[in-house]
Amino acid sequence: MSLEYATPAGYPDADSALVAALEAPMAEERRDVRRSEAGVLLDGVLATRARRKAAYDVAIGEYLAAMSVGARTLTFGYVSIGDYARERLGLNARTAQKQAKLARDLRERPALREAVWSGEVSPCKARIVMSLARGDAEASWVERAKTDTARCLAAAVKSLTGKTADEEEEPWELLSIPVPPEARPMVEEAMKVAGKQVGHTAPRWDRLDAIFQEFLGTYGGVEGAEESDGNFLHWPLPPPDDSVERLEEDLENETKRWVYLDEVQPVVAPHVADETNPWRIDAELRRLVAERNRCDEELGRVASVFSSLGLWRDAQFASFRQYCKERLGMGVRTVQQRIALERRLVMLPELRQAMRSGRISYEKAKLIAWKATGTTVKDWIERAAGKTCISLRREIEGEEEAQMWTRGWLEIPVPRHTIELFADVCKAARALARKPLTSRECFLWSVYQFLETWKCEAKERNTLRNRVMKRDLGYCQAPGCSRRAAHVHHVEFRSHGGADSMENEIALCAAHHLVAIHEGYMRVTGKAPDGLVWEIGLKPPRPEDLPDDSDRERTGCQ
Ligand SMILES: [Zn+2]
Repeated sequence: MSLEYATPAGYPDADSALVAALEAPMAEERRDVRRSEAGVLLDGVLATRARRKAAYDVAIGEYLAAMSVGARTLTFGYVSIGDYARERLGLNARTAQKQAKLARDLRERPALREAVWSGEVSPCKARIVMSLARGDAEASWVERAKTDTARCLAAAVKSLTGKTADEEEEPWELLSIPVPPEARPMVEEAMKVAGKQVGHTAPRWDRLDAIFQEFLGTYGGVEGAEESDGNFLHWPLPPPDDSVERLEEDLENETKRWVYLDEVQPVVAPHVADETNPWRIDAELRRLVAERNRCDEELGRVASVFSSLGLWRDAQFASFRQYCKERLGMGVRTVQQRIALERRLVMLPELRQAMRSGRISYEKAKLIAWKATGTTVKDWIERAAGKTCISLRREIEGEEEAQMWTRGWLEIPVPRHTIELFADVCKAARALARKPLTSRECFLWSVYQFLETWKCEAKERNTLRNRVMKRDLGYCQAPGCSRRAAHVHHVEFRSHGGADSMENEIALCAAHHLVAIHEGYMRVTGKAPDGLVWEIGLKPPRPEDLPDDSDRERTGCQ
């Protein structure tokens, strides 16, 4: 592979020096900023970085798709592409799955693929038109995607299919309900029982959904229910109208799609070889991710200054969201997360250094950036470097939950539909009680109702298997695996005289148990839970051993 391909469009370039020297102006300096000059300069740098990052992402997606074929991730001890990407490359698991899926979808659409690889159509826009760009219609959708705005494309797709493109991210909010300490066991029990229904690794909002749905299934639609007043703590919740969309459209037209902004040249994605060897795919992925991260860091720096000065307003965008979507071809949440991390990195230079040197991955840095302070950052880096990303996340979540209970508040980040479900629960409960119950009372009622219905079915017998599952918290114990445990495995095989005992048994997911271990890709020896030794890469993977990740996505497990 030639170097010319490996770094898109001569990256890093002269602007990289400028980015490195860039600092957000102090509050008192802001009015002296020459906004128009700064805006034009930073917008140009930002848009170029966004194109380059997209180009890297396209190539990374292609290799991730190659890595997700057959049992290739097993070479590194992982049973899914999401786990592999998070633990080995430091990428977000969900993003990695989406990138691999994009690569697979594009294989059936040669014209769209060509446009994405040449940088003429952003991956975001490709996802919007994906469902319609097939067969005879492909060429015309590719042409539209090259010139139309993302908003315009999404509106066109929606009018034809009735569906919103999956690019539109559901906004998240923080649901806050005061819960007295004495109610804690009941709420925890209900969350656990809900986990049995929606999957043990399901996030807490998913479990809340199950609890609220149960209540609504029983009491929803009660006569006399008032319109929901959303009378409980949650934020932010902008009014559901289409004024934002109309403003976006107006600005798009008035500015003739921001014709005055510098034209940014498309960036060709790095060349990707047709690899089948997992080690070579892995090496390419690590190289590309390292380069992409450098580009991403620059993007974070510039975006941080650009957004703190509100320069998107000067450039005539309705919101930073619209700027991200139309000018950068990125989701606003992705950019905001990057900016948030950048601001923490300014305060925690050790963490930036640990990220740059590869000691801490991006995903780990995101986890500890909000926990660490100037005095604790070294300890945090030490702690994070010594464990898998998934166990770090679980530990932090456990600690946060304990603190939350001490404060006497249940605080859970949830997608907006969960807020809406809870509003319906409050509405139904108040109608049923014929009095203005507090949100806490409505919540506890739904929890009680859920437990009454499901408690008996969820009762566990005190068997060795259940004790092992409990000790391992129901998670697969293979390092870096995010799956729910389905089996209990004898570390020393029973056929070799291994005992039925707590220290000889561990919880594993089906794939790690039946394929990884019993087919001989991995080996675990020692004593559970703390004295286990894992060995990986014991034999090269066979394509037929594990289904494609695409199959797993279809069956909904992860
Ligand atoms: Zn597993």
